[in-house]
Amino acid sequence: MFDIFKIGFIPFTFLDLIDIVFVSFIIYKLYKVVKGTIAAQIFLGLILVFLLSFLAQAVNLKALGWLLKLITDIWVIAFIILFQPEIRRLLVMVGKSPIGRLFVRSNQSDIADILTDAAFEMAQNQHGALIVIVRSTGIRGVVETGEQINSKISKNLLRTIFFPRSPLHDGAVIVKGDIIEAARCTLPLSQETSIKGVPLGMRHRAGLGITEQADVISLIVSEETGGISIADNGTLRKGLSRESLKTYLTQRMTVTKEKNFKGILEYFGKTK
Ligand code: ATP
Ligand code: MG
Repeated sequence: MFDIFKIGFIPFTFLDLIDIVFVSFIIYKLYKVVKGTIAAQIFLGLILVFLLSFLAQAVNLKALGWLLKLITDIWVIAFIILFQPEIRRLLVMVGKSPIGRLFVRSNQSDIADILTDAAFEMAQNQHGALIVIVRSTGIRGVVETGEQINSKISKNLLRTIFFPRSPLHDGAVIVKGDIIEAARCTLPLSQETSIKGVPLGMRHRAGLGITEQADVISLIVSEETGGISIADNGTLRKGLSRESLKTYLTQRMTVTKEKNFKGILEYFGKTK
């Protein structure tokens, strides 16, 4: 079925190709998990033991062969014990991948909670903030204008970043999934300069501008008024209540399956 070519009399099928791609991918991911850890050395040690035992049997060193065979016979159990932390990490990685996320509804509402709480606390203290929430594809160009953070999102981290005397408070924070990717980013300004006769400041124009160009939502906390706004798909909604912000974020942050599929392709294409 679907023969691509033959090696001697062995046919090479399309299924074999898929098989090889999957195995290569798994080995690559394994290598990434193990790289730079003690497990890499253990792995090397195991390979040496295997080689030695093979050699001992080949040249018929009976006693040494017997000893090494003892080890290689129990290698599956040894493997699980020695690599227990790595196996756990690998399984966690599998669960966190976009494929895993297709099955498990992620913690979108937790993130909406964090963003809502942070926004209202900042509003109360009249600390200005500008948060861009990435929906499907990333906005690498914008991320590169700021400082990389790549840290798990939390209310206090957001509040710390936007604390007026913090070196990172100026500009926008980019949030993707549950990660704060960057801070101090520069966003493209919207051409819109006022809404219903009320002039728009730079923060609001920047927050609106990025939603005209990418599939993102901006959350804006006004330093002047303490008001909370959302920009989405080129429209700005001002003066949101806690409840409406939470609902809005939860609903809009859920990416559809078709977009998620794009995420899977991106994941497989990632080189780093
Ligand atoms: P506020 O209601 O908080 O005063 P505003 O819409 O009136 O907001 P400004 O007072 O002009 O806006 O706020 C200026 C802040 O907006 C800057 O300190 C900076 O943090 C942010 N800002 C301005 N331009 C950009 C931009 N292009 N990209 C990202 N952030 C920007
Ligand atoms: Mg202002």
